[in-house]
Amino acid sequence: MNGGTRRDFLGGRFTRKRRAPPVRPPWALPEETFTARCTRCAACREACPEEILIRGRNGFPEVDFRRGECTFCGDCARACEAGVLRAPDTAPWAVKAQLTDSCLALGGVVCQSCADVCEAQAIAFGARAGGVSRPAIDSAACRGCGACVSQCPVAAIVVG
Ligand code: SF4
Ligand code: SF4
Ligand code: SF4
Repeated sequence: MNGGTRRDFLGGRFTRKRRAPPVRPPWALPEETFTARCTRCAACREACPEEILIRGRNGFPEVDFRRGECTFCGDCARACEAGVLRAPDTAPWAVKAQLTDSCLALGGVVCQSCADVCEAQAIAFGARAGGVSRPAIDSAACRGCGACVSQCPVAAIVVG
C-alpha cells in the first residue's frame, strides 16, 4: 500500500466507485427540472414498447440499455402528462455510446458484434496491419440508441 492510499484508508476516505448519472427517457428536460417536476407516475415506463425504461433511484424513470435499444418511437414522451418529456419532434438527447477498456477487440480478440447492429454505422473497425481491428465510435454519427450495448458480450459499451 503506498503512502497516499494508506492515509486515505486510515482516514476512512476510500473513494467509492461513483455511479454514472442515469440516462433519463429521451426528450427529458434538464436533470434538475426533470426530477423536480416528474411525478414518478410510471406512465412512460408502461408506454415503452421496448421495455427499456425502468424504475431508477428514488423512483424516477431511467433507461437500461441492457434490456434493448431506444427506437425513438416517442411513446414515452406522448404518455407523460407532467410535461417533463418534450415533444418527440425535437432532438431526443445528447447521450452517446462510449467504449471502455474491457472491449475484447482492444485486447486482441476478434469481435465486431457492436458494429453489426449499429444502423447509424457509427462504429468503424479500421484495418490494422498484423493485429486485430479495433472499434472506434464516431460520436457525431452515434444517435445514442444503445443498440450496441446489449450486443456486446462483455458489456464494454456504455451510453451516457
Ligand atoms: S422513445 Fe420509444 S423506445 Fe425509446 S424510451 Fe421512449 S417509448 Fe421506449
Ligand atoms: S410519465 Fe413523465 S411524470 Fe410520469 S414518470 Fe415518466 S417522466 Fe415522470
Ligand atoms: S461488441 Fe463489445 S467486445 Fe466486441 S468489439 Fe464491440 S465493444 Fe468490443
